[in-house]
Amino acid sequence: MRPMARTSTAQRQARRAWNLLHVDAPAARRAAERALASGTGDAHADGWARLVVGMHTLLYGTAAEAETVLRAAERDFLRARERAGLILARAQIARARWRQGHFQQALSQVLPLRDEGLAVLRHEQRAMLLNTIAGCYSAYGDSAQAFAYMFEALRDAGPRRGRGFDTVLHCNLSHELMQIGDYEQGLRHVASGLERCRELDNQRLTSVLLINRVACLTELGRAAEAMPDVMTLRAMPATSDGRGRIEPGFETLAIAALRAGERALGAELLDEAVADGPPRLPDNHLERAAAHALLALAQRKPRRALDTLLPLQTTAEDDTIEGQSLRIRAQFFDVLSETWQALRRPGPALIALRHWQDLHRRQVQLASQARYQAAALQTELTRLQHRLDEKDAQRRATERARGALVAINEELSRRVREVQALQEALRQQATQDPLTGLFNRRHLNETLPQLHALALREGQPLALVIIDLDHFKRVNDRHGHAAGDQILTAFGELLATHSRRSDVACRYGGEEFCLLMPRTDAAAARRKAQALLRRWRTMQLECHGQAIDGLSFSAGAADTWLAPGSPDTLLKAADDALLAAKRAGRNRVGTAAQAIAQGTSA
Ligand code: GH3
Ligand code: MG
Ligand code: MG
Repeated sequence: MRPMARTSTAQRQARRAWNLLHVDAPAARRAAERALASGTGDAHADGWARLVVGMHTLLYGTAAEAETVLRAAERDFLRARERAGLILARAQIARARWRQGHFQQALSQVLPLRDEGLAVLRHEQRAMLLNTIAGCYSAYGDSAQAFAYMFEALRDAGPRRGRGFDTVLHCNLSHELMQIGDYEQGLRHVASGLERCRELDNQRLTSVLLINRVACLTELGRAAEAMPDVMTLRAMPATSDGRGRIEPGFETLAIAALRAGERALGAELLDEAVADGPPRLPDNHLERAAAHALLALAQRKPRRALDTLLPLQTTAEDDTIEGQSLRIRAQFFDVLSETWQALRRPGPALIALRHWQDLHRRQVQLASQARYQAAALQTELTRLQHRLDEKDAQRRATERARGALVAINEELSRRVREVQALQEALRQQATQDPLTGLFNRRHLNETLPQLHALALREGQPLALVIIDLDHFKRVNDRHGHAAGDQILTAFGELLATHSRRSDVACRYGGEEFCLLMPRTDAAAARRKAQALLRRWRTMQLECHGQAIDGLSFSAGAADTWLAPGSPDTLLKAADDALLAAKRAGRNRVGTAAQAIAQGTSA
């Protein structure tokens, strides 16, 4: 049980670390280290914890340190078969490579991750991958691609679900805008980023945003306005515990101070840059030389400024150096031109100015390309939105169709119920005599064999009585067919009312009726028929005010004991008894076994 509990703690801490990575960098780091310290060997938890440590180190430590941790995370994720983590670890390794100046390698490592990453990753994780790709393109000087990926990333990492990562994107967007010379727009993204930073504890992010603002203001000729930021940044130590050791930006700050006329501050900042070690990236070389030159110019030592700049001139002219930005190169030639002017050498000053101008032109070109790319992206987004809208419309149409289907189904089951009712009515009509409401002969034919078999099985008698109204032809002749019908109906009622529920009363045909009586013998059936005859004779019927009298019937009763055999035998026996009753003078009930001749008047 215990190892399980520890594993889940490690996973919880690793998850917490990830969620806090950009929101509260120190807390994220602590959580990640706690997860690793739990020592459960849970590759999944370890992977995410190491990824956090690696990414944190990439911001606050050095790229080489970060790469070591990230490669360990990569191994963890391979072991845990965690695709999302693996893609992110590899993207961050590419970033570490890029931070160490291996731009080409970084791009070729990160691009193959894109398609799977877009399918596997979501929200801020997706945005991180896209941002890494953007960073590689940016280092390549391909601002158009960099912008496209950054805006795409910003869509995935909105403030609500971005876990603070949107701030990184504002930061990088402002940096990229600086590369194409759009400093005003750059300042706007800095402002958005700083606004978000107030909710976060991430010194590194805050400091990079501030450095970007200093650079924008300096480029806009408003270096003096950047001095409060410079002071804020000076108060933030460029260490792992402060704003981080990677790219402390002392050169940028020094240039701003010197442009603002703060010579002493500029000199101090430049000292700090030198104390931080040799420049690491191509841009740093040019920037540091420009800062040195500006300080020399401020000290009215243009010769020294030139000595600092000249060794780097061919480098600054070189278009093929990866990671060397147009902006920093333009800045270099700007300072070089100023230096030649200070030396009263208009010829070389003009050449330097031409270089500056050329680089500017290319910045503008990049800007228009980026605008085109942004417009293309916008078109793509609109198209995507259209597709989403279409899907939505389709979904609504499907819902409508489903609604219609429900209605159709209801209609259908209503019809089915109707048909069933109709069939039931038809079935009744098929077994019912319409005039009297009694069963018809067909029903008798169906029922008799069943009751017959049941009686044999039960060892009980089944009685059958056939009733024939006497001289019915005369009734018809005297009172009319309609009256005859009324009398038949009346007899039907009599039969129905006075037979048991288990009895089956049928109109056998014409003025003949049949009564099937289960568990009854012929004698009892006869008694029953005689009782019916008494009632029938005393019925008060009239037609058109004229009393109908002299009603009687003759009947024959039989049962399965007296007439064993088939249902037909039973029928025949009853019929014979009826015939005998007729012959004996009508108005009586006879039984098969009985000497009919004795006659009955009930
Ligand atoms: P018997 O006493 O010998 O049975 O004389 P009967 O007149 O009743 O017998 P018969 O078989 O000669 O005539 C039956 C008559 O019943 C003939 C027919 O007009 C009449 N009848 C049969 N079915 C119906 C009916 O549905 N309605 C009416 N009104 N009369 C019917
Ligand atoms: Mg008859
Ligand atoms: Mg008759």
